[in-house]
Amino acid sequence: MSAPSTTPSTTAKLSPAQKALRAMGLVRAIDLVLHVPLRYEDETTIVHLSEVEDGHIAHIQATVVRCDVQQRPRRQLLVEVQDSDARCQLRFFNFYPSMQKMLAQGQVVRLRGEVKRGFGGISMIHPSVKPADSPLPVTLTPIYPTVAALPQAYLRKAITSALASAHLEELLPSCDLPPNSWSLQQALTFLHYPEKGTPIVQLQDQQHPAWQRLKAEELLAQQLSQWQARQQRKTKRAPVLPWESLASKTLKTELSSRFGFALTGAQNRVIHEISLDMACEQPMYRLLQGDVGSGKTVVAAMAAAQCIANGYQCALMAPTEILAQQHFAKLVGWLEPLGIQVAWLTGSLKTREKRAMMALAKSGEARLIVGTHAVISEKVDLPHLGLVIIDEQHRFGVAQRLALRGKNNLHAEGDTPLPLLEPHLLMMSATPIPRTLAMSYYADLSVSTIDELPAGRTPVVTKIIHEERRHQVIERIQAQLDAGCQVYWVCPLIEESEAIDLRNATDTLEELKQVLGHTAPASQNTLSPPSIGLLHSRLPAAEKQAIMQSFVEGHLSVLVSTTVIEVGVDVPNASLMVIEHAERFGLSQLHQLRGRVGRGSTASACILLYSYGETGRLSEHAKARLRAMQETQDGFEIARRDLAIRGPGEFMGERQSGSALLRFANLDEDQHLLEWARELAPRMWSQSHGLSLRLIHRWMGDKAGYLNA
Ligand code: ADP
Ligand code: MG
Repeated sequence: MSAPSTTPSTTAKLSPAQKALRAMGLVRAIDLVLHVPLRYEDETTIVHLSEVEDGHIAHIQATVVRCDVQQRPRRQLLVEVQDSDARCQLRFFNFYPSMQKMLAQGQVVRLRGEVKRGFGGISMIHPSVKPADSPLPVTLTPIYPTVAALPQAYLRKAITSALASAHLEELLPSCDLPPNSWSLQQALTFLHYPEKGTPIVQLQDQQHPAWQRLKAEELLAQQLSQWQARQQRKTKRAPVLPWESLASKTLKTELSSRFGFALTGAQNRVIHEISLDMACEQPMYRLLQGDVGSGKTVVAAMAAAQCIANGYQCALMAPTEILAQQHFAKLVGWLEPLGIQVAWLTGSLKTREKRAMMALAKSGEARLIVGTHAVISEKVDLPHLGLVIIDEQHRFGVAQRLALRGKNNLHAEGDTPLPLLEPHLLMMSATPIPRTLAMSYYADLSVSTIDELPAGRTPVVTKIIHEERRHQVIERIQAQLDAGCQVYWVCPLIEESEAIDLRNATDTLEELKQVLGHTAPASQNTLSPPSIGLLHSRLPAAEKQAIMQSFVEGHLSVLVSTTVIEVGVDVPNASLMVIEHAERFGLSQLHQLRGRVGRGSTASACILLYSYGETGRLSEHAKARLRAMQETQDGFEIARRDLAIRGPGEFMGERQSGSALLRFANLDEDQHLLEWARELAPRMWSQSHGLSLRLIHRWMGDKAGYLNA
């Protein structure tokens, strides 16, 4: 067994263990040494068999008295060993010739495993076996997180040799060491090979100086990489899209007169912030955050207008086809009368339509391209792309955001070599970024906030109702329908199976048809039974659109749906939202769903139906989520509580974070270290540039680009 090479060669020549190392991202020596143990085993001392209690793990040394292979009841290796005062029977169901050799009669071995005491005496099943020919280890034995193809012993050896070869020099300026700090070498040696007698609590205590060092350095590397990204962005160029140009002013005025309402103060303010960014020659990198219903779409339209008026193309992406379709319909309505052609691109378009749309994009005839992430697929040519708008940006993966770079093929004029012009980027989200995350992951992002809802909105009343009272809820639907309003009924997402999801939704549809059909009274408004539609993700895109469209136009009065309507959908006449099995939804998801109602001036309600499920009760988290929904409607407060309930790792979500970005530090617990890193990073970047780059490389390797997408 040889230690794995740290220089990647072709995958074909790698052993399974080397492949496993590679797959786990353990390529460089530093990757290996940062792979810290999951737990430890104490093999530093030997105990006597006679002292071990039943069920305890013990490390013993004994001489083999007998070693037989037995065939019945199944093939096994039966071994009897003896230490100074007792005998023990060992049983192995998987064994190899090498093990039989090690366990031959007369051999002295060290065994570690669980000891059983029964009528037949003392026994151990499948203990670990080592020959007793070397001195006892003087440190605890690390047990690493690993996979089947990568045995502990192999990994341990690789890490030991990496620890010897990794040059863990001090990269931090000596006057700026974090509080209470050890050196990295010291910290890692301690964590990989704790000395005999080190209390386990110390090893697990993340406040220990060894842990503090790892976390501090990790956070600093992350802050530095943010600085690096910021510097790099400063050197990038984007098309200059002035807002004071006559064309821009005229188009924006014409556009806003088509909205049919006056913009709120907050909307005007953020439109102005965005317009200034777009007039710069550095690419805009801005997040527009505003609660559900705060009116982000018109802000996006105004930004698009500034881009288009200046002769460039704009792409607008939404995470779902339904939402993209809705944006498309609105934007066509606003812009086409002003002579601006809007194209539509999604994955589900027929080949011929897609070709036609791509031709329009490529020729530049289409000035605005709306769609799902199909818009940024490689095949789509957007030669004059000046602005990209991503709606509900937290729904998009990091890789998709990266794909945006270098999308157009514009070059700045005059410079040699000609730098690529990047499009300006505007991201929109109803999920505000909590302060700690903003400080660490998004240090480089400008943020505009819409902190005001359009006038005339009445707050949504939220009720939490047990499933038993479902019939009362259905009666309430009738009342809404009688008043001419529309209703959403959302069925839960059961992650394991889309099929079950669908069955739930279909059952609910039938139930509502039955009850509402029967009770449809001789009221003035409803002469015939209400029309109820069903929307779910398995429907073909065209059908989804048709159903959504008939709900938008009011032909459907009730829309039963799975969570496909979660984000963005805008039907102001809908006044009641029922969410079935609300206890299964995440908090921000509930908030998004509730945001589908209360968009017009009618008083609206959201009913959270819950049931206890198999456990017979609600989990504490579920209770906290429902309570939060009832207590507040403020998206920022919801985000804060969501963070408190779930913790930042989960809050960000895998997709958002690319993969676990911080392995050691915890943004909540380690705020003092985050502050320290934030303060130090800019100074270190300018004063010790070389060290900064090495620190980034040590921690991020080539992942840095990913982190800053
Ligand atoms: P979100 O921020 O959730 O994306 P939308 O852009 O969908 O919100 O807007 C929600 C609703 O509010 C839409 O029907 C939109 O037309 C309307 N709206 C937006 N701005 C205003 C405003 N200033 N006054 C009145 N209604 C507005
Ligand atoms: Mg929206």
